[in-house]
Amino acid sequence: MIWYPYQQMKKMKAPYKITDAEGVYLYTEDGKIIDSVSSWWSVIHGYKHPVLTEAIKEQADRFSHVMLGGLTHEPVRRLADKLEEWLPGDLDYCFFSDSGSVAVEVALKMALQYNVNRGDLKRTKVLSLTHAYHGDTFKAMEVGDDEDYHFILEAYGEKKNVFHIPTKREALEEAFDKLHEELNCFIVEPLLQGAGGMRMYDISFLQRARELCDRYGVLLIFDEVATGFGRTGNRFVADLVLPDILVLGKALTGGYIGHAVTVANHKVYDSFYGEDPQKALMHGPTFMGNALACSVALKSIELFEAGDYLSRIRRIEEITRREMKGVEHEQIREVRIMGGCVCVEVRDASYLQGFQQFAYERGVFSRPFLNYMYAMVPYVITEEELSKVLGVMKEWFDVADSVR
Ligand SMILES: *Cc1c(COP(=O)(O)O)cnc(C)c1O
Repeated sequence: MIWYPYQQMKKMKAPYKITDAEGVYLYTEDGKIIDSVSSWWSVIHGYKHPVLTEAIKEQADRFSHVMLGGLTHEPVRRLADKLEEWLPGDLDYCFFSDSGSVAVEVALKMALQYNVNRGDLKRTKVLSLTHAYHGDTFKAMEVGDDEDYHFILEAYGEKKNVFHIPTKREALEEAFDKLHEELNCFIVEPLLQGAGGMRMYDISFLQRARELCDRYGVLLIFDEVATGFGRTGNRFVADLVLPDILVLGKALTGGYIGHAVTVANHKVYDSFYGEDPQKALMHGPTFMGNALACSVALKSIELFEAGDYLSRIRRIEEITRREMKGVEHEQIREVRIMGGCVCVEVRDASYLQGFQQFAYERGVFSRPFLNYMYAMVPYVITEEELSKVLGVMKEWFDVADSVR
């Protein structure tokens, strides 16, 4: 029996069964649907990409996995070299893991131990955003601010080590003013908060955060598990404001295999480096640096570079702005667009009930949550396919009252 994610199993409607997938299309027993979710925002090049599939096959013919404890291999070395060269600034040290949540755990552990290694035991607190989402493991839940996880607070008491602030300059300054001596890091999803409701904010907030982190010796962590690889219209938000630790996941492997990486700068790495075994980073996911994942990630990055993806994403944004212009309805609170992400926030969550099936019947897979109807399409989508996705979203507001 499969236990599905984020579901009351008793009430769950049967999931759509996928038998094949290619490009932006998922194939079901009834036909094909455009995946407007990119399998949780990861399948940026579309499904069954010949180059990516070939990379996996070639590597599988050699070996699929060997552990990184005491062993190493070419795919992981080449991926680390590529990331070192490709990522901005001195983000050079790559710690691999099997999922975004684990990579966030690693980042938080690094930030805490960075201070411990330097002899500062007071900096035990983390600053984070309201509506933050950083994954489903325990510490990631704790630094997150998702109402679904508030049972944690009830069970374990207040989260004394985490403070949340909104993406407002005054709140940021006040938090650093009050807390700077205790903070080891500030963790953010930069520019675009995904699972917290596709909330978008201004780069000036992050520029100010960088200044304050520098002034007070607090590490800045960018969780770009969702925003990385072009989703905001930037290759990485880290290209605009440089964090001390960067977390990548989701699209890292083009959506082929779960893998993630926590990338530290020199300052962070140097605090671990030395003679003392106590100062080492005590972490080692079994499947870190998996050879299939690294091989496909390398090819995914090559495709991203060679295919001029940033122009494609700009084009997606332009079409989206054009198509969504003037979209209004008494139920719509706001339409938000950034890069390859569009979100229609409705006033009443129940208004989206039935939308998934409605979209399915019109050839689009969508997965609205709470008050948010959104699309994060694969970047290889054509204008016609994108118009279809957006058309279905708009059409819902014309007919919802009668079909619901
Ligand atoms: C999805 C996501 C994660 C968690 O990644 P998993 O691979 O699902 O563990 C962490 N942070 C952000 C911002 C995410 O969107």
